[in-house]
Amino acid sequence: MKSLIRTIAAVTLAGVLLSGCGGNRSEDPKAKYIFLFIGDGMGVSQVSLTESYMAYKKGNLGGERLTFSSFPYFGMASTYSANRVITCSSAAGTAISCGAKANNESLGISPDGEKLKSITYHLKEDGYRIGIISNAPVNHATPAAFYANSASRYDYYELTRTIPSTGFEFFAGSGFSAYYGNEGKDEDSESYLERNGYQVCFGEEEYLNRPADCRNLVLCQKHHKGQNAKDYLIDGMKKEGVYSLPELLERGMEFIGDSEPFFIMCEGGTIDWAAHENKTMPLINLIREFDAAVAMAYEFYLSHPDETLIVVTADHDTGGVSLGQGIEWLDDRLEWHKIDSAWTAAGGANTLGYEENKALNDAAFIGWTTKQHTGNDVPVYAIGKGAERFCGKMDNTEIKGKILGE
Ligand SMILES: [Zn+2]
Repeated sequence: MKSLIRTIAAVTLAGVLLSGCGGNRSEDPKAKYIFLFIGDGMGVSQVSLTESYMAYKKGNLGGERLTFSSFPYFGMASTYSANRVITCSSAAGTAISCGAKANNESLGISPDGEKLKSITYHLKEDGYRIGIISNAPVNHATPAAFYANSASRYDYYELTRTIPSTGFEFFAGSGFSAYYGNEGKDEDSESYLERNGYQVCFGEEEYLNRPADCRNLVLCQKHHKGQNAKDYLIDGMKKEGVYSLPELLERGMEFIGDSEPFFIMCEGGTIDWAAHENKTMPLINLIREFDAAVAMAYEFYLSHPDETLIVVTADHDTGGVSLGQGIEWLDDRLEWHKIDSAWTAAGGANTLGYEENKALNDAAFIGWTTKQHTGNDVPVYAIGKGAERFCGKMDNTEIKGKILGE
């Protein structure tokens, strides 16, 4: 009897340990519909900053949540790369996509030069339709980590030329870095892709007038047609004729459909760029825009709750922001109104110079420790089928296996 009780106790404990925060693994570990959102540079402090601002706008000290920070499962991921404590986006993207560490600046390649396999190729083999979406260029580090193998993240033209061999259904981004290869001597990216079976649409008019039999598409911003995608729209303000991240995702979900399983990676790439410049309000606007894209996936989840997994994470923290710099906890609070009114006066646009921006951050008591990436852990939020796997401390290389249920 005693041993039976011990056995039951052991089994119960094992069950509790295996189920992590309390969820249960179902028999088929993979969700039919998978969304992976990556806020580039979006550390946990950037999320707190955004929620603090949202609370300020309601006249409160706190208590606001984004869609994704309301998800029931939460963990933290370490982000170091194979050769540095502080990762870059290509090594971190590779870790998330391929489940293995890479050196900074390499994409889908191990430190030994071995080609690594992205989760997208595993899922493609299993009949999933694949969408890769970013508001950064289509061939930028994070999106490219989900389709390319390259010793350098900066071989932009070659990364673009990888796209046709993927067979993936949908790509979206601001455009192409290195639109013309070899300083304009090589074929332009649009012609190359279209000659190899991919329709390239710049803006809504081209998208709506795409051929009816189009099965593989690259969607870009209208103003980047025929040129390098080099302007960085980092203020997070909606502009006429420019797709927002939710709009890019909406086109992707429409194009891919839900008759077959799908995997969609959706990156808020310009969050990182705002953080590199320590621009507080653009950063907040971009995280809220990113959250609006997550909210679209959440809507989809509500109609397919047993078949959908949504994971939201970051590749690394950028800027090392803190809520409070040089203030005493007994007598002061963040001066949100100072930063808010100054950005409002500037029309919300990203026009403030370095000194002006720094003075605003200081006046509002918002501290930035660097203009580069940090080695801070990043948050991982999840909801849906298999979401319970994303609890507790993990390494970024574990995310792939957790999505696949391995
Ligand atoms: Zn960066």
